[in-house]
Amino acid sequence: MSVTSSPFWSEAVTRLSPYVPGEQPRGEKLVKLNTNENPYPPSPRVAHALAGDAHLEALRLYPDPESLSLRKAIAGQFDLVPEQVFVGNGSDEVLAHAFYAFFKREQPLLFADITYSFYPVYCQFFEVPFRTQPLCQDFSFDVDALAGAAAEAGGLIIANPNAPTGRLLGLADIENLLEAYAHRVVLVDEAYIDFGGESAAQLIDRYPNLLVVQTLSKSRSLAGLRLGYALGDPALITGLNRAKNSFNSYPIDTLTQVVAEAAIGDRDWLDDCTGKVISTRERVSERLAALGFDVVPSAANFVFAQHGKVAAAEIYAGLRKAGVLVRHFDKPRISNFLRISIGTDAEMDTFLGAVERLLGDL
Ligand code: PMP
Repeated sequence: MSVTSSPFWSEAVTRLSPYVPGEQPRGEKLVKLNTNENPYPPSPRVAHALAGDAHLEALRLYPDPESLSLRKAIAGQFDLVPEQVFVGNGSDEVLAHAFYAFFKREQPLLFADITYSFYPVYCQFFEVPFRTQPLCQDFSFDVDALAGAAAEAGGLIIANPNAPTGRLLGLADIENLLEAYAHRVVLVDEAYIDFGGESAAQLIDRYPNLLVVQTLSKSRSLAGLRLGYALGDPALITGLNRAKNSFNSYPIDTLTQVVAEAAIGDRDWLDDCTGKVISTRERVSERLAALGFDVVPSAANFVFAQHGKVAAAEIYAGLRKAGVLVRHFDKPRISNFLRISIGTDAEMDTFLGAVERLLGDL
């Protein structure tokens, strides 16, 4: 049942066009390569943290509203202090507070025309004016144009690596943007940074306008946990806390605090897991190129590709019939592209086999 209007709705709710998340199929046995989840189980420290009943007693009480122990653990990973760390229920929630805290102004927030599709949704919800900057032909960021627009912008948001393209911006370019936007917040959304990029977190002590947002959903294999965080100058973190506490958004629940703290310290697991995903990504990219796809160079746990001859919608539908789910965005400029999340080697072999059969049959 899909309700599209109601006399009970406020005008604001009637006007919204909510985010449509990638499909989460129930019951069907599919090779699921559509929402950039990590195909490997999380660090064994997660299972260890969940075992036993030490936390049953803690569940009787309300959670630590400041998540202090977890924030200390996150800060430790980046040579920061807890006052430079904000935690939220997934990075989507962190982004929501950041939009409200920093970008609700007269001047428009700037982001790329092809990027994470939640940004315009939040702008609409929080009444943040925005302007989009076209990516270059090869989907790289137009750094000169972004920097040139700084004087009239209310802020800048860069997904790095970008989604759904996977393209990475180097730290020198990020620094140029931080300098151009010295009067405004530059939010670098690093949901995928562990799959091949260098985090801008190391620049935080030099740029009070830099807010780095990361998540445990992708590289830590904990999308079901809902834990994201922002790193930045204490003034920015205090701004986020003011927004969060006024909105009465939920503190992080006790189990999530415990599990996230266990996971964040396991650097060896992280390096091993991201190493596997990266090597599979490179193998899949080469094979897709050999099959006639243009593959955008990716620094993320997905690849973005279009076939020279066959329409993306047709490949998407054929794969779906073969039990493989990828993502197709029916949007201007990218409607002939598919975004394929990197699964295990076995899953990617199933995907590649299905693509080969499909192209062979056409
Ligand atoms: N930023 C980007 C660029 C993303 O692709 C995603 C995942 N869809 C998120 C943020 C949100 O991730 P989460 O809320 O799971 O932390």
